Amino acid sequence: MKNQLFSELGLAQPIFRAVVAEGYERPTPIQAAAIPHLISGRDLIGCAQTGTGKTAAFALPILQRLSTNHKKAPPRSARVLVLTPTRELAAQVGLSFRTYGRYLHLSHALVFGGVGQGPQVKSLSRGADILVATPGRLLDLMNQKHAVLSGVEIFVLDEADRMLDMGFLPDIKRIIAALPRARQTLLFSATMAPEIVRLAEGMLKDPVNVSVAPPASTVDLVEERILFVDDSDKRNLLSLLLKNPAIDRALVFTRTKHGADRLVKQLGQVAVNAKAIHGNKSQSARTAALEDFRVGRCRVLVATDIAARGIDVDDITHVINYDLPNEPQSYVHRIGRTARAGAAGIAISFCGHSEREYLRDIERLLKRPIPVRDDHPFHSESAANAVGSSAAQARNRGNPNRKIGRKNRSRIKRRW
Ligand code: AMP
Repeated sequence: MKNQLFSELGLAQPIFRAVVAEGYERPTPIQAAAIPHLISGRDLIGCAQTGTGKTAAFALPILQRLSTNHKKAPPRSARVLVLTPTRELAAQVGLSFRTYGRYLHLSHALVFGGVGQGPQVKSLSRGADILVATPGRLLDLMNQKHAVLSGVEIFVLDEADRMLDMGFLPDIKRIIAALPRARQTLLFSATMAPEIVRLAEGMLKDPVNVSVAPPASTVDLVEERILFVDDSDKRNLLSLLLKNPAIDRALVFTRTKHGADRLVKQLGQVAVNAKAIHGNKSQSARTAALEDFRVGRCRVLVATDIAARGIDVDDITHVINYDLPNEPQSYVHRIGRTARAGAAGIAISFCGHSEREYLRDIERLLKRPIPVRDDHPFHSESAANAVGSSAAQARNRGNPNRKIGRKNRSRIKRRW
């Protein structure tokens, strides 16, 4: 399975060509495990988080099924429905289908809130082969009879755990109730909490289970470090770090929306082009910021956890936790934004005096300490020595690169 090639997965030529054009050499584990089952029409539960290649794991076989079974989508309906929790993720999944389907002649529709519904209604009116949607707006369109789901042949529920976290369960149930019973169904989730298993039992028929490395191990390629710093020095420390050109594309996390805006302003004062992305920004501002970041027009994107959920940008060299998250699982999600699909990345976390408990919770979740770096001018002994710090510190100082193999270490250009 490990050394499988894309050419062995039985993909049709136009799809295979698109994969090659993307520069993919080998299927990722979830792709190798899922694609053959999905091509044969099985239902599937995939336990995988973003960054594992899960989008292609479902998009490629779905495109394959559409291309081998030509049919016209009925008006106002779609042959494939993919539900995602956020607009950003919907846009990115939609883009992936277009990219992998570029040599096929398929129609696409994207439906999400926060923007006018007119163009979305139009794109659905004649029927679309592939519809990617967030639950709320899709239900709106269904209620207005602009969208009907009777033509759906394949249904994908992406990031089911986040959907539930965000309170979408009732919406999802209503959407599932409107789908034809005879269909292929796929569910992806980063975790398999009992409520996900219950949801899966109600919607899947004899599913194949595919599980790839649990979230904590996807961070193995990330070189992590903790920098103890007083809150009042955080902005100066960040400005200093950003002087290093090796920080080519940095995703910076703050705890609050206000904090994100303030930081963007402060970075502007030291001539760092940064943009913020959070829930108070309009959809068009979020899309523009993300696009600027993706194409390299802005080097630093400042985000809150919720806004960052759908971000799927390749080549993020650094994730910087300006504030540590109070939810330890968020730390894993955050740092997973770098080191995508096998590349190495660096995660730098600032930890102030008042954040020591957050750090303790994170290290408990990881079941290991995070290496500390104190060789910077803003190192704070008082933050370092707050609650229960010394043992972890002493254990770590020795070798901050401990988890990185030589090959990946050499891919990290500089120490910071
Ligand atoms: P995902 O988990 O779907 O968010 O994908 C993570 C990233 O991996 C995306 O940016 C894809 O472009 C990339 N990717 C997906 N499959 C492969 C592959 N087989 N080889 C290299 N990169 C891939």
